[in-house]
Amino acid sequence: MLPTRGYATKGPTSILEPFSFERRDPGPHDVLIEILYCGICHSDIHQARDEWGGSIFPMVPGHEIVGRVTRVGSAVKRFKVGELAGVGTIVDSCRVCASCKAGLEQYCEVHVVWTYNGTEKDEKTPTYGGYSSQIVVDENYTLKISPKLPLANVAPLLCAGITTYSPLRHFEVGPGQRVGVVGLGGLGHMAVKLAASMGAEVTVFSTSKTKEQDARRLGAHDFVVSLDPKNLDALANRFDFILDAVSAPHDVNAYLNLLRRDGVMAMVGIPAKPLQVQAFSLVLKRRKLTGSGVGGIRETQEMLDYCAKKNIVADVEVIPIQQEKEHRGRRRGDPHSAGRSGLGADDQRRCSISLRH
Ligand code: ZN
Ligand code: ZN
Repeated sequence: MLPTRGYATKGPTSILEPFSFERRDPGPHDVLIEILYCGICHSDIHQARDEWGGSIFPMVPGHEIVGRVTRVGSAVKRFKVGELAGVGTIVDSCRVCASCKAGLEQYCEVHVVWTYNGTEKDEKTPTYGGYSSQIVVDENYTLKISPKLPLANVAPLLCAGITTYSPLRHFEVGPGQRVGVVGLGGLGHMAVKLAASMGAEVTVFSTSKTKEQDARRLGAHDFVVSLDPKNLDALANRFDFILDAVSAPHDVNAYLNLLRRDGVMAMVGIPAKPLQVQAFSLVLKRRKLTGSGVGGIRETQEMLDYCAKKNIVADVEVIPIQQEKEHRGRRRGDPHSAGRSGLGADDQRRCSISLRH
């Protein structure tokens, strides 16, 4: 076994503390990765606070992992020692169900082995994530990372990037289409960059006017302050596709009404409480409300290759993991982090933790 240093939270109201644990010895198909950067994902915060229920403690969060390969198993073909590697939200799955066979491991019908807050295939051994010094992952669930892009900025692609890329691709967003992005946080900012790069005309909806400059810099063509219903009414029946990246409670009907006939709205943010959907919002224009969860391994690699080609990365602020606690303290003045406690900066995806010790 490999002694590993990490940071864990012991319960829903605890903070991150140093935590020592063991990784398995790399098997024939495994790669051992020294972790260099790990993004802070909003779901790290939800799960560390047990907001979705069923959290496993102690929890070592982190599923936006980039690092360097330090050892490979005897049968590993795709990675060599010294190469860059990435790990996202999934480290294994059943591999034989219809979803796994279709390359959609995130929808595995048997057992997805989530990178943290999950269990290995034995459904007993807990998994520990990227707020740690190293990780052992089967090469089939390990991603190739281009050395062209700044590594700290690549980390959030492993979750925020694929979570937004996958629905944009699945619903065939492209030139000539009007795309709305609701919320400009970690997911939203990637959605704007990606949708704009695919040729769509992008409108950002945000409760805060202060984000307009950021939105336009990221590639948005239009910006709408969503607090005023008049602003939304003026845009009824206009959009082909809307990506809803908000995890706070909000009125989805206000956005559904902006879709054209047969338009699609996909949820990628996950509010803790059920949403209220007016049947009229769907019925009147045969609109579709759907959701999308991260992406399969094949599509995640496709997204990473696409981002390397198009020079797309996440905007990040890098903080040493030892200072994560102080960092949170500094952000108390930020209205978006008001009332939050426990793990993490609320600026989520805009952070990439440096794991250099
Ligand atoms: Zn995530
Ligand atoms: Zn499966």
